[in-house]
Amino acid sequence: MHVTDFDREVDVVVLGSGGAGLTAALTAAVNGASVEVYEKAATVGGTTAVSGGILWIPAHRRSSEGELTVDDAMSYLRAQSLGYMDDDLVETFVRTGPEMLDFVEAHSDLRFEIAEGFPDYKPELPGGRAGGGRSLNAKPFELSRLGEWRDRITSFPADFSNVGIDAETRARIHASAENDSGDYCVAGTALIAGLLKGLLDAGVTPRTGARAMELIADGDAITGVRIIHEGSDLAVRARRGVVLATGGFEWDTKLVEAYLRGPMHGPVSPPNNTGDGLRMAMARGADLANMGEAWWVPIVQLPGDTFGGHPRSRSVRLERTRPRSIIVNRAGKRFLNEAGEYNSMAGPFHFLDPRDGYANDPAWIVFDSQHLKRYGFLGVLPGEEAPDWFSPSTDLADLGEKTGIDADGLARTLAAWNENVAHEHDPDFSRGSSAYDGYWGDDKAVTAAGKTLGPIDTAPYYAVPVSIGAMGTKGGPRTDRDGRVLHVSGAPIAGLYAAGNAMAGATGKAYGGAGGTIGPAMVFGYRAGLAITARVS
Ligand SMILES: Cc1cc2nc3c(=O)[nH]c(=O)nc-3n(C[C@H](O)[C@H](O)[C@H](O)COP(=O)(O)OP(=O)(O)OC[C@H]3O[C@@H](n4cnc5c(N)ncnc54)[C@H](O)[C@@H]3O)c2cc1C
Repeated sequence: MHVTDFDREVDVVVLGSGGAGLTAALTAAVNGASVEVYEKAATVGGTTAVSGGILWIPAHRRSSEGELTVDDAMSYLRAQSLGYMDDDLVETFVRTGPEMLDFVEAHSDLRFEIAEGFPDYKPELPGGRAGGGRSLNAKPFELSRLGEWRDRITSFPADFSNVGIDAETRARIHASAENDSGDYCVAGTALIAGLLKGLLDAGVTPRTGARAMELIADGDAITGVRIIHEGSDLAVRARRGVVLATGGFEWDTKLVEAYLRGPMHGPVSPPNNTGDGLRMAMARGADLANMGEAWWVPIVQLPGDTFGGHPRSRSVRLERTRPRSIIVNRAGKRFLNEAGEYNSMAGPFHFLDPRDGYANDPAWIVFDSQHLKRYGFLGVLPGEEAPDWFSPSTDLADLGEKTGIDADGLARTLAAWNENVAHEHDPDFSRGSSAYDGYWGDDKAVTAAGKTLGPIDTAPYYAVPVSIGAMGTKGGPRTDRDGRVLHVSGAPIAGLYAAGNAMAGATGKAYGGAGGTIGPAMVFGYRAGLAITARVS
């Protein structure tokens, strides 16, 4: 396309309005660029808006315990990377984190605070922090300050498992507005609201209902984007460059099947991340990396539960962590630490038995009447009757008949489990031994292991299917440390940047702690915003 064919012209075009996109846009705008943000959905914020809104920034000086060092952060990430991390990108993330936080606070009304006591996800590894300090959340944000934009942030229906709503989750992640009077939002909504307000104040108004379709190039350099906006086909020139912040490809079945390292049964993100940025980058020769990886999470699907016309998957946390519940496969055997961090669970769920196929997928969360009575389960409150799809069963044989779980195998598993937990001990998978394990467990328990270990011995018994899904994918175009997309030849593609789940995730297979996805997304969004305005540090 020739330059004169463009409908609009601007310095920087940002595609997508999640944490990565809004941070890139804010940074570029504050540094003097004219910026336009195009968002495919009718509302802004993407997955970031429905998330817990926590950022993992592993090295900083904001802790009351003193400096959290780069060396510790690097040792920790290296220890959990299984050899699959790009040291240069990871160190860039670690070193830029504090600068990004300072920048966002200086140029918006967003404020971050440490989510006190939120442990790293593998705190016992070298450099890990059992007492927290690396996870930060956005402080509650007063929605009315957004004016007409207050109702234009992406949200899930307000029910039990929405991280922004569920009271227990909110309390754990310190996302509570209860002490503030007024119209406050918390968690991911607060993060997006704060970024959006900063952006609006910088003179940038996102365009929603605007889907980027194709990158426009002049020779090898990207010069613009073709966008379908409100029924019109627009060619927008980006004088300095285009930032792909379109999230992952978790909602595109073909891409999921082609690339992910094992089955992914349901994304828990809103249904707009269909790999558009990935396809656009591939069409221009981008090199790809980390394509097999996702931000994995165990999921449940409630019968008839939909969002945006798609079956809805929900990440399951409290129900697998509290005492008196375990996860078993169809042989009735446990195969993981149910209370461990979710991302690492993909391995055991993906275990491929040469004779039996995916032996652990699907699996079941098995729990007893005491669990239901004390804690409730998936929105069924303590004291309420269990729905049929929980397979209420008078004994294990009955449960086996209803679910297909091998009842003898399950009986053997429960006998051993009940014996072991009486000694607060899980010799098979060490559940309860990490400082992380009890975090989502029973706060009233007097011992650390007691927060998550308890017998399963009181009928009726129940079982709910659980499988592995994803919060988003982690692979995409390979970038340099400033978000420049690299061509398969190794050279940067002029004018093309990527950040967040649209780029090849810097941390490889690792997931450092709560906020491990939004932290890097905002850091690389920030760096792309600096680089595109030639303010590289
Ligand atoms: C319930 C839940 C809780 C979570 N909690 C946390 C947490 O507390 N901390 C954490 O670190 N992570 C969390 N995550 C994961 C995290 O939210 C995501 O990994 C992260 O927000 C991704 O940010 P992003 O900016 O890359 O993508 P997104 O926030 O998904 O934004 C991408 C945007 O691009 C838009 N888009 C897609 N295609 C196009 C196109 N062609 N043109 C224009 N726009 C397009 C999408 O509509 C979307 O708005 C959670 C996820 C879920 C679902």
